[in-house]
Amino acid sequence: MRSQSRNRLVTVKLALAGSLLISLNTPVLRSAAPGETLPSTWPQAYSVQTDKVARRLTLRTPYYQVEHDLAQGGAIAQIRLTHGKAENLLIRPLETRLRDEQGRVFSDLRDAAPKVKHSKNGLLETVTVESKLLDGQGRAGAGVLLKTRFEYHWGYVKIHKEFVVRKSGVRLTELCAVNTVMAANLSDYGYREGLTEEEGAPPFSFGSCRWGKLSSDQPNAIRTNQLPRYIMLADPGVEGLEWFAGSDLDQWDLQLTGHRGQGQCVLQRSKDPDGMALSVSPFQNAESFTLTNSCTFDYYLGVPILEGHARKPWFHSSFNRNRGEWVNTEQIKRWSESGIQTVHCHNDGDYYDDGLFWRDGAYPPYPDMDKYDKVISDCHEAGIRVATYFSNKELHPSTPEYQRHGTEWGRKNRKDDLQHNFFRGTNEFGAQMCLRSGWLPFLKSSIDRVLTHHRLDGVYYDWNVALLCCNQLHQAQAGSASRSSHWDIDELLQLMEWTRQRVGPRGLVIIHNTTTPMFATENFADDVVANEWGYGKWSGKGAGLNELPLEWSLVGARSRGVISYGQLDTQSPKRLHRVFALEALLSGVSPWPASPETFDIFAVLKRIGDLETCRFTDWRNKAVVLEGGRCASAVYSRPGESFVLLANLDETPQEVRCILKPENLPFPISLPQAAILAGKEDAALSVGGITREGVKILIPGDTAVLLQIR
Ligand SMILES: [Zn+2]
Repeated sequence: MRSQSRNRLVTVKLALAGSLLISLNTPVLRSAAPGETLPSTWPQAYSVQTDKVARRLTLRTPYYQVEHDLAQGGAIAQIRLTHGKAENLLIRPLETRLRDEQGRVFSDLRDAAPKVKHSKNGLLETVTVESKLLDGQGRAGAGVLLKTRFEYHWGYVKIHKEFVVRKSGVRLTELCAVNTVMAANLSDYGYREGLTEEEGAPPFSFGSCRWGKLSSDQPNAIRTNQLPRYIMLADPGVEGLEWFAGSDLDQWDLQLTGHRGQGQCVLQRSKDPDGMALSVSPFQNAESFTLTNSCTFDYYLGVPILEGHARKPWFHSSFNRNRGEWVNTEQIKRWSESGIQTVHCHNDGDYYDDGLFWRDGAYPPYPDMDKYDKVISDCHEAGIRVATYFSNKELHPSTPEYQRHGTEWGRKNRKDDLQHNFFRGTNEFGAQMCLRSGWLPFLKSSIDRVLTHHRLDGVYYDWNVALLCCNQLHQAQAGSASRSSHWDIDELLQLMEWTRQRVGPRGLVIIHNTTTPMFATENFADDVVANEWGYGKWSGKGAGLNELPLEWSLVGARSRGVISYGQLDTQSPKRLHRVFALEALLSGVSPWPASPETFDIFAVLKRIGDLETCRFTDWRNKAVVLEGGRCASAVYSRPGESFVLLANLDETPQEVRCILKPENLPFPISLPQAAILAGKEDAALSVGGITREGVKILIPGDTAVLLQIR
């Protein structure tokens, strides 16, 4: 989440991309002007359609559509991303079911005539469904009615499920809230475990994603009685889907029996149908239990908002007070000349031992705020957009709000302790807070105060993550059991929605979520910072492309900065910084902050022109086959022409054989006319050769070259 080196000012060299300056003091645009396209980060209306013949209810945005099957319990049966790959991310509808003592399964999918209603409130679409749970003979023997409310937000659906007990005393061996099979291309996964201190998790643990890959060799991913809080499946660089529990974790862990660990979550490769099978059952046990009271479960489905085109590299730097030596006008001009597009003020610890830093939640942070404003106006003058740092989880003990509300708002462990985060020695960042408390409204007012007083373009959010908390004051129900726990995901989503509204459609939102990426929150952000820690130091040749974590580029939906200082330090060989930048280039992401190596290596993209007119496929593409050495390719493709990046990840020059499969380009070319290797002097390659047996190309060490195909 932090490092001093993150605040380095770096020297860089590339042309500047255009940027928009919007003052936050002026009212933001609430709707599109005629002909204006709103960014995909800005919530937009759904179009809703009922097809009475096909018995389908469809909710559509330009980026994705979700379909309810009105002949199968009103369940969600299709999720499709407009710019994704799979026709349907669900091979089987999202089923809800019960199993009784006799082994009979009662499923909502068997209800061919559910009661479905739809309503609209502003941009929010709500679908309510009342369905029976029926066995194989169409009998409703379990005496339980299912009521579901689907709330359609931007990029995610919030689902509230109520099992209404009509005939008390039903003995069940399973109560399953989610049962589905997802598309087979979603082979990579990450999940955040459902462990608490009771199961030996450290107090205040971060709950980073555990990553893996489902394949026929590795068919089992998750099988646990402690239900995970979050599960993501992805086709890396292409598309994905996520499920996560609402803030009230007691629903899943304690509600049914009062004992944790009575449920079961399974994620595994399914053969028939071919796909990724997921089930989340708050209860599953051979020893049955009696369902006497109605029970409710809140969960979410999130999708990445894919725009269907390549993204420009994101070049970012940061600044702080620096002992009063604020970044000067000349340096800002150099940033601009080198290609820096955005910067943020990052000064959450006493880096210079002068006591002058931005204590989280305090305002004003410095005696010389006029100098802060000067940096902002100089950046704007140079076409650079500016954000400032906020921690979504920390409040400095020196603030009056901490002194008044610290223990009330704080994230607590089972022993009711607070957790203080330290920068160095006794020098503190702040104490951890929980958004499921008065901390959320205070944080919003604190952000609003800063945005109101300074002409910033937006915000940089650190700790943009939901975390487990045991502060009993935050429980949904007063007087909850002392073993109750929750996390603050509902509130984090509210904060993201509020933030986008606050900065406006063209405002700047940067979030940092190392080890806990999430489509639902990233959809509101322009840029995401990832990969700070958790993946070890690089040595030798560095990590191979197939060893990079899923969060490195995730599914390519948002501009992503990958932090290098987690894997590289001052002792690391200089060339590894080039390898890092090359692997970022081949994945469609940018090193963060932008390093000199970044600008050197990314200069190869200049020739392509406007990258946003292209589609991008990363090093996993099927259009290029390379033989020989440690090398890889990536493709930018637009109708009629494609550009292939060929990278040599070894330090010595290598001759590689390159075979092009023009039919596999994102925009296929049926009969290529020219293949040109860009250089000081372009070299024409044999088109016949490159599309058949391949041509040999010499690539200098630690470098990428560009091949143009028309
Ligand atoms: Zn809490």
